[in-house]
Amino acid sequence: MPTLLAANIGLLACPVCGGGLTLTAATVDCLRCHRRYPIVDALPVLIPARALSSEQLPPDAQNSASN
Ligand SMILES: [Zn+2]
Repeated sequence: MPTLLAANIGLLACPVCGGGLTLTAATVDCLRCHRRYPIVDALPVLIPARALSSEQLPPDAQNSASN
């Protein structure tokens, strides 16, 4: 469990908008712009290019056009 990250999440800020971050099970979410940063090896990857926009659909959703 990323307890070290959880204890220090309040010290981190979104590199895009400077907003506060919140820790979830698998990502670090920006409270302001709602970008989601992946956590790799218990460290948040706060790189804008690696962020997942909340507006992006998961890859599986694009395959929903069955039939
Ligand atoms: Zn942000």
